[in-house]
Amino acid sequence: MVTHPLSQASHSESARLPVEIRQTRMLIDGQWVEAASGKTFETVNPATGEVITQVAEGDREDVDRAVKAARRAFETGPWPRMDARERGKYLYRLADLMERQIDELAALETLDNGKPIADSRHIDLPLAIDCYRYYAGWADKLEGKTVPVRGAYFTYTRHEPVGVVGQIIPWNFPLLMQAWKWGPALAAGCTVVLKPAEQTPLSALRVAELALEAGIPDGVINVVPGFGPTAGAAIAEHMDIDKVAFTGSTEVGKLIMQAAGRSNLKRVTLELGGKSPNIVFADSDLDAAVEGAFFGLFFNQGQCCCAGSRLFVEERVYDEFLERIVHRTGRQVVGDPFDPKTTQGPQVSQEQFDKIMAYIESGKAQGGRLLCGGQRVGERGYFIAPTVFAEVRDDMTIAQEEIFGPVMSVIPFKDVDEVIARGNRTLYGLAAAVWTRDIGKAHRLAAELKAGTVWINCYDVFDAAAPFGGFKMSGIGRELGSYAMNNYIEVKTVTVAL
Ligand code: NAP
Ligand code: MG
Repeated sequence: MVTHPLSQASHSESARLPVEIRQTRMLIDGQWVEAASGKTFETVNPATGEVITQVAEGDREDVDRAVKAARRAFETGPWPRMDARERGKYLYRLADLMERQIDELAALETLDNGKPIADSRHIDLPLAIDCYRYYAGWADKLEGKTVPVRGAYFTYTRHEPVGVVGQIIPWNFPLLMQAWKWGPALAAGCTVVLKPAEQTPLSALRVAELALEAGIPDGVINVVPGFGPTAGAAIAEHMDIDKVAFTGSTEVGKLIMQAAGRSNLKRVTLELGGKSPNIVFADSDLDAAVEGAFFGLFFNQGQCCCAGSRLFVEERVYDEFLERIVHRTGRQVVGDPFDPKTTQGPQVSQEQFDKIMAYIESGKAQGGRLLCGGQRVGERGYFIAPTVFAEVRDDMTIAQEEIFGPVMSVIPFKDVDEVIARGNRTLYGLAAAVWTRDIGKAHRLAAELKAGTVWINCYDVFDAAAPFGGFKMSGIGRELGSYAMNNYIEVKTVTVAL
């Protein structure tokens, strides 16, 4: 593992921030406002542990104001009523403005989240921009049907926007999760109230500013930063929100559903955690499998809902694989996320850091063989050395719970039937991957693994057109692709007597 020192940020950090912080207030009805309570909260630079800035702390009253604005915009504003193709143009314009500001947005994301600048600039931003463009094209393609019914009637369906939408997103891909939520909702003609994660509120506010610049009318997009149990819960419980879309932990996903059930039965889609099996057969291209296993786990500091965190390797190549993966891990460059050579930055927060370190201890205590890593890197910030455990058993905590950090568990297996059964033995079902040259075996696993996405001889391949979401406790519904449009429409049946 290569490490390099952080650029010397200091107490007067704000003067030396790598990017200007333009917006720290909340956006309600086209206005940048303080919280009703006047409260603010800190957002922290995970590379240094220092406060970047204070951000308006939204709560119930602010969510309520935002919902009122979104309701007004939905019921009487131009957004759901304009020609659908016009609505698409606003999304194209937002994408263009994001492209214009791509370096600024990438820097903001790296500052607030800690992800390497090369990733922000070349992965998160291009995917987010592409997502807005993809959904811009959907705005005028929500076609209903004509339905052949009995009798002298003409029946057709209309696909109408669901209404006011609450969206609660996590900190691991802040800009991208905003795009996954806003793209289809806005294309459908909905109005939105977004709560970004408390750890990473900054980029969402800047994109909202660009959305106003693109001309999206007041009240269509509202952004209320704040905490989950207050602002987030107020969204989930609100009687005048028609639909809530959530991405985050399975634990909070359950709370969102309960709140929807207790309040107005708002529609719910959830994109939650995972413990995805990544299965390497002896007949695979082992170089590609090592690279894919490495990327599939360590990408984004291991903070991916679809991380390949149960890495099953066929016994015949197990030892060779371990040797190679440890070698590959040694080339990870941990350090200053603003250094373009860095490939691994800090974890997002002290809380996540502590949680991951506790999982590493449990892995050791329960008999996992630590091959590399296992310790913190540097004295400040939340850096963890990329960690690989061998001889992990299915019943160990690190093989069962979502770690959300740079901790790989390599688990040996003997044959196909066994690995399918073990791969499926989890409460989750978000993603899976298979590495083999045998296409029959690959497709058999693709059919039998209970997961919303199966990658064959690749990992973490995302595209705005390809649906993503979970089986079992990994979620409800699908994001991306044409499927995501269904999350934001109501189907209305109209029957005319002839
Ligand atoms: P989390 O609590 O589920 O946070 C996700 C979002 O939900 C945040 O905006 C959060 O707000 C909000 N939230 C929290 N409690 C809420 C509530 N009672 N009602 C409504 N909204 C609420 O996730 P986390 O605490 O950041 O991370 C914990 C674990 O979740 C991670 O270790 C990881 O295992 C998993 N996770 C999964 C994903 C994913 O992509 N599926 C993403 C992030 C985390 P605040 O952040 O402001 O509290
Ligand atoms: Mg939380």
